[in-house]
This record gives sequence, structure tokens and C-alpha cells, in this order.
Amino acid sequence: MKKLNLKQAIICLILSCLCRVVLAQAPMPPTIPIWDANKVTLELHKVSNDIYAIIPATAETETSKGIPQATTGGFIVGEKGVILIEVMLTKRLYDQEIKLIRSVTDKPIIFAVNTSDHGDHCFSNYLLPPSTSIIQNEFARENLSKNYEIIKNFMVGLFGSGRGIENTVFRPADIVIPKNSNLKVDMGGGKVVELLNVGTAQSPADLFVWMPNQKIFWAGNPFIAESPAIPWLFDGYFLEPAANLKKMYDFLPDDAIVIPGHGRITNKAGIKYTIDYVEELKKEVQAAVDNGFTLEQTKATVTMKDYDKGYVLFNWLHYGYNLPNAYKDINDNKKK
Ligand SMILES: [Zn+2]
Repeated sequence: MKKLNLKQAIICLILSCLCRVVLAQAPMPPTIPIWDANKVTLELHKVSNDIYAIIPATAETETSKGIPQATTGGFIVGEKGVILIEVMLTKRLYDQEIKLIRSVTDKPIIFAVNTSDHGDHCFSNYLLPPSTSIIQNEFARENLSKNYEIIKNFMVGLFGSGRGIENTVFRPADIVIPKNSNLKVDMGGGKVVELLNVGTAQSPADLFVWMPNQKIFWAGNPFIAESPAIPWLFDGYFLEPAANLKKMYDFLPDDAIVIPGHGRITNKAGIKYTIDYVEELKKEVQAAVDNGFTLEQTKATVTMKDYDKGYVLFNWLHYGYNLPNAYKDINDNKKK
């Protein structure tokens, strides 16, 4: 490991203190870890020929009950090798993924895609063979290269210590996709994989994975899961995600197969709940801002009880992040 000079060491110390302060002030979820990386079992789901989703074993029964699920992923077996989608939070989960891949093919993993800079999508990059090319959104690489320790502290804060998150090491992506760009990877045999950076849909680091011929969509964090899950707009943005979530929803054909970021496999109708929640939140917060309400008054008014259908994280996300971020963005817009 590279040795830090004194200045760098001081900056690191300040940053890690700052991060603890931010975490200490940030609203915390009802239980930590939100899901336990030491207990998750990943399962293989064949979606189409040579195309697989990797889904937590509990997702089938627990998604509709509103219980938060671990990260989903998948892989496509092409003519020359495998493209892996998501590498997971820890070595324990990465090893499960590799076992699932090896249960269907011996081909090398030539590409690995991370759909977010959150650790549950990218922290195991360092375990990939050196020959694997990692693909990310351009902002994701920049943010990870500057703030890996901060992101690590943030992940430990939400997903617990002693889960192997501390052991992860930053490995930079090889290929990056700038905002409003996309990359097409032809894996052969009609298996074209499109990687879409449409801008912030949850965070500025988002990347969507779309297979136009098979109509299979890996949604990542922007679409967490079907109802009763609501989006995790906790990266400080609302209006841009609101527009981009709708844009991606409209882009999908009705018969698309959707692998949400943290739930069982669903379809376009299954992610409509996210769109409806965001549109209603936007409408109600806009009305509150038009009435000159403070944030506290808005929290007291915009309770959106119709959307509180048993998602364990509803209060944490709605009052702690989604509503305040909507209020901030809509209020800022008004001032312009
Ligand atoms: Zn995630």
C-alpha cells in the first residue's frame, strides 16, 4: 500500500472525523445492519439463454413484505467470456457469486459492471482477476478514488462492522461512462449489453444495464424493489432523480424483465410504485413550498400515509431523506 505523507494523513484524519460527524447527525435506520452480509445467501435465476440474475434467497418471499433485501446482480455468458453485473459488498458474497458463475460456465470474467459507487455494488472489485476490466459511471470512479474510506465508513455505519466491509480495498475502474453517454458491449450471439449513464437517478454514480434484444433491465439502486419499497433518495438529490426515474420507466417496454437493485425479479408494472411515490412527493412538497411552509411544517403535512404500506425503512427514508431532499431542491428552484 502507498504510504501517505503527513499532509495526506491529516486530510484523511479530518475526512474520517467529518464522516463520523455526518453519520452521527444523519438519521439512522431502525435496525443496523439493514441486512446482514454475513447471513445472505445468493441464488441463481436463469432469465434467458446464457443470461442469469443473482438474487438473495429471501427476496422471493420477503420483498412484498417490505423487508429490505441484499444487493441483486447477474451475469451474461458471451462467446469470449462473462460480463458480471455487481461484485457485492464483501468477499463472502463475492465468493458466492463466483460459485454461481462456475456452476454454469468455465469462461473467464472479462468485464465487471458496478451500477453504483455504494459499496454493496462495487467493494469486491479488488477480488476480481487482474485481467477483468471494470466498468463504471465516470463519477463513480472519481468519487471512489477520492472518498473510498468515507464511503467505507458510511457502508459500515449502515451494514455493520465485522461483516468484512473493513477489509475491502479500492480498485479503480478500467472503463468509465460519462454522464449522458452509453456503452454497448456485444457479447456475441445477439447478446448486446447496453450500459446507460443518464445522470442522477439515485446518485450521480448510477449506471443502468439494458439488453435490448432480450428486454432485460438491471435497475440498480434507483429502483430498489416493488411495493411497498420506496426509493432511497439519500444522496442529496431529488428533482434530477425524479426526472430520470420517469425517463427510464418510460424507456422500458411493457414486457421488460426488471431486476431491481434490492428485490425479487419483477416487471415494468412492478417498479411503477417508485414512480408514483416520487411524483406524489414532488406534488405535495411543491404545494408545501408554495404555501411557504418550513421543512418541519412540510414533514408534518406530507406524511403520504397511502404509500406507507409496511416497508420497514419507510419512516427513515421518507422523513429522513426523500422529503428533505425534495424540499431542498424545490425550494432552491423557487429562489432561482
Ligand atoms: Zn445497493
